[in-house]
Amino acid sequence: MSEALPRMGGMNTLAAPIADLRQQAGRVVRDAATSGVLQGVGDSDLARILGELAGVQRLVEAAMIDAVGEVMRRSEVASVPDRMTSRLGCRDVGELVERVTRVAGPAASRLQKAAKVVRPSIADTTGELLEAELPVLRDAMIDGVVGVDGVLAIAGPLMETGRRVPRAGKRHAAGVVVAGARGDGPDGSPPLSAELLRVQASTWALALDQDGAEPRERQVARKRFLRLGAENAYGVPISGLLMPEVAAQLQQIHNAQHSPHTVEFTLDHTDAPEPPPDDRTHGQKLHDTLASALHVAAASGALPTIGGAAPTLVVSVTEEDLQSGRGYAHADGCPQPLSIATALHVACSGVIQRVVSRPDGRIVRIGTEDRVFNRHQRRAIALRDGRCIIPGCHVPAAWTEIHHVTDYAKGGPTHTDNGVLLCWYHHRYIDTIGWKIRMKAGVPEVRAPYWLDPSMKWRPATTSPTRLRSKVMQT
Ligand SMILES: [Zn+2]
Repeated sequence: MSEALPRMGGMNTLAAPIADLRQQAGRVVRDAATSGVLQGVGDSDLARILGELAGVQRLVEAAMIDAVGEVMRRSEVASVPDRMTSRLGCRDVGELVERVTRVAGPAASRLQKAAKVVRPSIADTTGELLEAELPVLRDAMIDGVVGVDGVLAIAGPLMETGRRVPRAGKRHAAGVVVAGARGDGPDGSPPLSAELLRVQASTWALALDQDGAEPRERQVARKRFLRLGAENAYGVPISGLLMPEVAAQLQQIHNAQHSPHTVEFTLDHTDAPEPPPDDRTHGQKLHDTLASALHVAAASGALPTIGGAAPTLVVSVTEEDLQSGRGYAHADGCPQPLSIATALHVACSGVIQRVVSRPDGRIVRIGTEDRVFNRHQRRAIALRDGRCIIPGCHVPAAWTEIHHVTDYAKGGPTHTDNGVLLCWYHHRYIDTIGWKIRMKAGVPEVRAPYWLDPSMKWRPATTSPTRLRSKVMQT
């Protein structure tokens, strides 16, 4: 069990200065935290202090990267018991680094990744330090120009090109990007942040690696996944890695739904209130985009059928709960109970079958085809309404659902005079967001919530392109 190289006496020569450094840093930090000097300095001084601290951090990181690199070297021995990790009782380098430095797993693996490209290789026989994979990057690290973030930003894209780009090409590119990191770049800009370094390195990698797209895509394809987690009280967690074109598609659908590309007309009621601001977060909107996309797909009739029918979500509810509007409903494959409002919403769209049962379990009613608007009705309603009829909402007809203005369960017919277009979000929350809808001689009218329009006036929905056009012609 050799402790390897003769430089092991280094602990003593390194330990003292590091202990000094730590003591000094401790004093500075204590002063800064307790003296109120941070609160007293001007803006530019505060910014400079932050920058200086980052400089110290980059130097500390440089030394840590090197130390981790050495741990890695000592743990790469073929014989397992002779590895440093084994000797210290750790499964691998990651665990050892986490234990010793107390950083989290991802930070430990970033240190290792950085070490791989900047650690010097070592001559087997003499123990002499040789060149690193990217020597110019190592120099910049030792100079305190780049820390872990900067090293990975530059090395990541370049090393990803693998054998397709010769080492000389990578080194040349690293040299140019490192100049940018030092603030010596050709464009004369100040030292670049890690994000910009990554952009530059990626540009180099693309230029050097003309055939890189295909292997990269293969890798992306291999890594793609989507996982639905176990349902908890807050919902179903989702995680995954989308292929770029899939994400782009989702984004496009999202944009189509949420960018107002029609001019708002308020022809017959100039006193109409401003449409309310959409107070959903970006994440909530994206969720709702996915919800309507799934709805459109399920209702399209283009999906494979199950037992001869379109994929059907079966929602069961007791007669009593349905009548009272309270209690719970249950959806197939969804362990958490749903509210009756949700059950009504999902039951409103064509692909859902509703099963109503008595307390003893006997089935009283099964949702049948006649509660579903057929294709012709849908087209007619779409022509009349144009898009979601809630003012200010721009979701186009193709992405909407048809809402029974008078609920089917309360005798509302599945007739064009009783169906209006609502987007997934407004359909889902129509009972709680304060908007009211009624039909007047076959034309939908909406009434804004009180806080938005205290006059509580009913106004015809002006979303239909045909109705707008005829109004324009009249004036
Ligand atoms: Zn809407």
